[in-house]
Amino acid sequence: MSRPQGAMPAEFAQLNPDSWTEPFWLSAREHRLTAPRCAECGTFRFPPGPFCHECRHQDVEHVELPGTGTVYTYTVARHGVVPSLAGTVPYTIAVIEPDGAPGIRMIANIVECDPARIAIGSRVEVVWDDVDAEVTIPRFRPAG
Ligand SMILES: [Zn+2]
Repeated sequence: MSRPQGAMPAEFAQLNPDSWTEPFWLSAREHRLTAPRCAECGTFRFPPGPFCHECRHQDVEHVELPGTGTVYTYTVARHGVVPSLAGTVPYTIAVIEPDGAPGIRMIANIVECDPARIAIGSRVEVVWDDVDAEVTIPRFRPAG
């Protein structure tokens, strides 16, 4: 398994998908970033959930996104709140606006860079964190 520099320890990457979130994680396993879009009105919704917040319909189609995006905001954790994070700090938690899915935001780590390089408005691209044989987590890194 290949894990990016700065990724959280594997113990923090345990998934409990339900029928709404499972398609996102199955796509991630194939290194495809997707988001559910309302099949009725076309509104993206994230995190995946049972009802469209615009029209209340339940049907969705899972749209593959280009894997790039913009940092909406972020924070840098410099203190590990549990001992297993001691080797991971500092790490960055960001809110990403992914390209191709207007109106949604994703929370993710930004990896493979000094946190000082990150700013609001920074362009980022997905990097896949293959945690183990079942779990792959999308992280982001500076683009270009
Ligand atoms: Zn809708």
